[in-house]
Amino acid sequence: MSFLRYKTLIEEGDLVIAYLSRENMTPLIVDSQKTYNNKFGTFKHKDMIGKEYGTKMPSHNGRGFMYLLHSTPELWTHVVPHRTQILYVADISYIITYLDLKPGSVVLESGTGSGSFSHSLARTIAPNGHLYTFEFHEERAKAVKKDFEEHGLSDLITVECRDVCKDGFGITGIVHAVFLDLPAPWEAIPAAKGAFKQNRIGKICCFSPCIEQVQRTCASLNENGFVEIKMYECLMREHDVKTIPIYTVADAINKIKIQQDKKRKRKDQNEQDDANSSKFKQDPPNLYVTKTPNEAKGHTSYLTFATFLPVLDDE
Ligand code: SAM
Repeated sequence: MSFLRYKTLIEEGDLVIAYLSRENMTPLIVDSQKTYNNKFGTFKHKDMIGKEYGTKMPSHNGRGFMYLLHSTPELWTHVVPHRTQILYVADISYIITYLDLKPGSVVLESGTGSGSFSHSLARTIAPNGHLYTFEFHEERAKAVKKDFEEHGLSDLITVECRDVCKDGFGITGIVHAVFLDLPAPWEAIPAAKGAFKQNRIGKICCFSPCIEQVQRTCASLNENGFVEIKMYECLMREHDVKTIPIYTVADAINKIKIQQDKKRKRKDQNEQDDANSSKFKQDPPNLYVTKTPNEAKGHTSYLTFATFLPVLDDE
């Protein structure tokens, strides 16, 4: 099976995302000998074979159900085994857009980590682009390479085990964009510069959790001739949607009068509040409004973008 071509029917050996709820999903490799147990019951893999992706499958013992989903890069980011910290969809979509990536783009990435970002990158640049991704941790490089093979992405992605800060990328003059998720991206920036196609504009993004890292990255980008250096932060903000009644001006005046009336009456120790509510029109129309909390949660990292300018011939 492949992340790039959706298939209709589930077969032995396929990857299925078992969806129980938005927060509860598990990747399963279909193996007719196996059974998947969860709080909603017992699900035999062999019952999945031949079913359409998207099917709602009841458990064998009738306790509940789950959906059998086809994998996508977004779902993979949700279920990927965390061998490192990973990028999530808010940052992923922002970076891919700001790096101007599209089918055919050639991209350089380091470190590969758990491959969360690489899956979305691969889908964007398919079918004829290429991702060169570098990871210096041998076990992680091996694990992610296996994931790419199993997910039908190995023609699009080359994984290399290499310390890019010490040894560079071994790539010159071929990439449109560079993405660095490293503890010290500034050490890899001079080598990244040489990897760009030298006759056209390119884009770089560095992903760093601390502002001190951003400062060092900006200084290095500047020293290496990058321009348009900008930093962004993606924050998740909740919108609390409510309905409120819409009062007419006459209703509002009436309400103020009632409040003043109540105050006066309270002062006089003479409480007769209840009757006043009948002065409102019945069931005023409703309006949808959203409230957002003051502090937006969800800082993962700062995104520093810059532009590589083409090298001009002297003649
Ligand atoms: N962006 C990845 C994802 O979405 O799954 C996560 C990357 S993880 C935070 C950073 C990775 O960079 C780690 O796996 C680490 O081993 C790797 N790394 C750190 N320094 C490196 C270097 N000098 N060369 C290559 N990889 C490096």
